[in-house]
Amino acid sequence: MRKAAVITAILLAFGVLYAVDPEREPFMPRCLFHWLTGLDCPACGSQRALHQLFHLHVREALAYNPFLVVSLPYLGALALCRWFNDGGRLDRLKSMCHHPAVIRLYLVLLIAWWVARNLV
Ligand SMILES: [Zn+2]
Repeated sequence: MRKAAVITAILLAFGVLYAVDPEREPFMPRCLFHWLTGLDCPACGSQRALHQLFHLHVREALAYNPFLVVSLPYLGALALCRWFNDGGRLDRLKSMCHHPAVIRLYLVLLIAWWVARNLV
């Protein structure tokens, strides 16, 4: 039940991001970190990037948040392993995604992205 609710919420959010351009709509949530500090967080631009990706505008999505775009396969694999691993069919993928070295590398890249995007 909880899994269905989470997946439904994600699909609804993706539907809203497909239909509504966050660049033009003032009711879309803004980043609290950016509002407080004036700096970009690692996720800043994610709504706009996803909106562009849903419309197959990859170049524009990369301009808004390249780290999100290149992270999507990994994040998608994590979601698959979390919600669709009934019977252990995805245990091999799950062990790769949850390997400590992979998680450490992802966190290092995330922090490097966070720092770099605020320096340029
Ligand atoms: Zn942000």
